[in-house]
Amino acid sequence: MSKGILYTVSAPSGAGKTSLVNALVKSSPEVCVSVSHTTRAMRPGEENGVNYHFVSREKFETMLEQGAFLEHAQVFGNLYGTSQKWVEDTLKSGLDVILEIDWQGAAQVRRLMPDTVSLFILPPSLSALRQRLTGRGQDDQAVIDARMSEAISEISHYVEADYMIINDDFTVALAQFQALITSQHLRQSAQAERHAPLLQELLP
Ligand code: 5GP
Repeated sequence: MSKGILYTVSAPSGAGKTSLVNALVKSSPEVCVSVSHTTRAMRPGEENGVNYHFVSREKFETMLEQGAFLEHAQVFGNLYGTSQKWVEDTLKSGLDVILEIDWQGAAQVRRLMPDTVSLFILPPSLSALRQRLTGRGQDDQAVIDARMSEAISEISHYVEADYMIINDDFTVALAQFQALITSQHLRQSAQAERHAPLLQELLP
């Protein structure tokens, strides 16, 4: 069985990244998303093991020392990390894996695994971004202002990604994301591996 493809998806907070990734995964059974570990507090509606593995700082640091993370970063004062073993096992099983991680994590993964496909998602405007951050209704004004400036700093790293999608119309953005996944499956090297018997027959 051929190895799955690894994707990183980065975006400023409020660009709609999680909704897009969830819709993509629902429509593409060959793609799954990694559940990160974090020291951040759980938000209302979140579930341990589904949105994140919520762990104490102490536990996170122990895991870090044990080399459990493929990458990790501090974002908004909280630690986030991707399980190396889960990613390796899942790719080996032939499934594609999406890492929803910030630009620091994406840079670490690219260095370790140069075949990684990186995608950046942008909001259609600054006002739409502010509206989306306010619309969540879960954070106070100081938190929203801090997130706006963090968002702009995240956006400045768009240039490091291979692909970019503007999430204005959700349906269009999802179709573009699906097209990206399809295009990666059609790469000549991946197709040649998948269709080795056909090539053998065509070119005996
Ligand atoms: P939130 O706490 O709002 O869910 O996520 C905050 C930021 O942390 C987002 O930019 C998200 O992509 C990033 N993030 C989530 N999980 C990971 C991870 O495992 N590694 C890294 N580097 N960033 C992460």
